[in-house]
Amino acid sequence: MQAVIMAGGKGTRLASITKDVPKPMVDFCGRPLLTYIVENLKENGVDDIILVTGHLGNVIKEFFGSGAEFGVNIRYFNEETPLGTAGALSFIKDMFDDTFFLVFGDLFLNIDFKKFYDFHKSKGADITLFAHPNSHPFDSDVIITDEADRVTGWAYKKDARDFYYKNLVNAGVYVLQKSALPRTVGKQDLEKDIIIPKIESGKIFAYNSSEYVKDIGTPERLRLVETDYKNGVCEKRNLKHRQKCIFLDRDGTINRFVGLVKTKEQMELLPGAAEAIKRINESEYLAVCITNQPVIARGDVTFGELEEINNKMHTLLGNDGAYLNGLYFCPHHPDKGFDGEVKELKIECDCRKPKTGLVKAAAKRFNIDFKNSWFIGDTYMDVMTGINAGTKTVLLKSGAADKNEKYKCAPDFEAQDLAEAVDIILRGEKV
Ligand SMILES: [Mg+2]
Ligand SMILES: [Zn+2]
Repeated sequence: MQAVIMAGGKGTRLASITKDVPKPMVDFCGRPLLTYIVENLKENGVDDIILVTGHLGNVIKEFFGSGAEFGVNIRYFNEETPLGTAGALSFIKDMFDDTFFLVFGDLFLNIDFKKFYDFHKSKGADITLFAHPNSHPFDSDVIITDEADRVTGWAYKKDARDFYYKNLVNAGVYVLQKSALPRTVGKQDLEKDIIIPKIESGKIFAYNSSEYVKDIGTPERLRLVETDYKNGVCEKRNLKHRQKCIFLDRDGTINRFVGLVKTKEQMELLPGAAEAIKRINESEYLAVCITNQPVIARGDVTFGELEEINNKMHTLLGNDGAYLNGLYFCPHHPDKGFDGEVKELKIECDCRKPKTGLVKAAAKRFNIDFKNSWFIGDTYMDVMTGINAGTKTVLLKSGAADKNEKYKCAPDFEAQDLAEAVDIILRGEKV
């Protein structure tokens, strides 16, 4: 497989530590940053690499040469004058395979490129963006996607944002079809000139991943990423390794319990919930929400309205620097015969808690190890879901705790609220 690495960055903000080297050659734990990108690609079977260089490109070429020392074949294209973030692509189009990766050279990353590639192919995408939630979506450019991960819009941070949105930010790693590149030759911006004009085609997708990709734009960020690297955090997040996850119920666990939530006005975070989820985000656990929403089958709420309600939750969490890595809901309900119901959703499905269809879907996407994972919820149905999947469980006493008549099960722990539950888990209580 093939990758193009954009390594022409000047690294103005890193000037204090990169005087005579281009940004991708900045020292990272004793070796140039770019070597880690090349090695991550090589581990994934990407051995045909094109390096686009610019400012001080000779330093890069002298270091990597033919790539033989790294077990890859490297070719070079040097930009004599800056061509923007994507202009070089139009000059070297003939060198590309039909499908190739594009990586910006000022990133530290450790990702399962094969999984990323499989996602791209399964969607029949022209371009797939590697995307992730971050701790400050309110001052980031945010990608708008539909339920199939198709990109439908782009919200720039400079524009007023008077709507609720998912926390999803572009990371700077892509899979591209050669055929998706425009015919024009010259200076081009990847987002503005190539990706955004193609959103309308419906062939741009976002791969929402929990893997480690961070830019090292300032000396402070560089030090933070080096610390994560030394602590093994970057490698552990690679989805080729089994992941630990804290599954979270929604109503009564993250947001205030008001019975069935039918309007976005009813979506209000519980006090302390965002802080608790932020602590999960900073730990080695993923945070994935699993919720039954029979309001859809009952005809009370449409899919679009549910998305709005969920987007309000994502926005409120994002305002407090917290995020969910995933959210899965069951729209079904088994009991037929009510006015206004959506007949095709009134079924015995395999995703309504305490069944495990949703947690299994999350486990497949994130390679989750149930044995080292937890389910937190405010009902015995949540506890039963965790037990059915093989996770440990915490029952919250704050919410709607049902009487334990139907399932007759016992949680591993009980807690007053989400904050206490997360305390118990992160303290490493043994069951
Ligand atoms: Mg609940
Ligand atoms: Zn279902």
